[in-house]
Amino acid sequence: LMRFILVGPPGAGKGTQAVHLATHFGIPHISTGDIFRANLKEGTPLGLKAKEYMDAGNLVPDEVTNEMVKDRLTHDDVANGFLLDGYPRNVVQAGVLRAYLAEKSTPLDAVLELSVEDSEIIARLSGRRTCKECSASYHIQFNKPQVDGKCDKCGGELIQREDDKEAVIKHRLDVYAEQTAPIVSFYREEGLLISMAATGDVDEITQRAISALKTAVA
Ligand code: AMP
Repeated sequence: LMRFILVGPPGAGKGTQAVHLATHFGIPHISTGDIFRANLKEGTPLGLKAKEYMDAGNLVPDEVTNEMVKDRLTHDDVANGFLLDGYPRNVVQAGVLRAYLAEKSTPLDAVLELSVEDSEIIARLSGRRTCKECSASYHIQFNKPQVDGKCDKCGGELIQREDDKEAVIKHRLDVYAEQTAPIVSFYREEGLLISMAATGDVDEITQRAISALKTAVA
């Protein structure tokens, strides 16, 4: 049983690590970005509402995001825990989540912060390619698919996210620094924070994350 959050700037590798960690711990990986993108693809009202914010690299309004996450946390599969990736992204969301989990007596076990230098983030994000179908993420240099432009997992087309284009990346980093970074102190004060450098080999980072998380809940 494990309830935890991944925090870190865009491009820290949250999505990649989240997939490995969720598999390891046998818990659902809940990515608000993926849920918004899936809604957008389906053309739901939620997706259409989120689109303008996402394309500009801004946060989708809290009311919309909080309701969506609370709804997701009512599904049966969270009984054994969950990994939240990309939520909360500001102090208001962190407060709403804390209150919601306190009410259900299912508080968080840990918050894992993945940290990476700004210069490296820009290199990672500008080369990132994402599967249109399943959201798997690749990099044109560091994590190439077997066949150019095609997803290894499902054969879907790999595209560059609108918000991975250079002008938007810079804005997303500002949004992270101004709105999301304060939640790191919030969780440090709660005694939940584990910070680690997220550079180097992907599998090595996963292994370090697993031991840090196991220690945290032991
Ligand atoms: P991500 O895939 O986590 O980088 O999220 C992509 C985009 O979805 C973000 O730039 C926001 O526009 C939106 N988004 C994802 N999570 C949140 C959140 N917790 N609060 C507000 N907007 C979010």
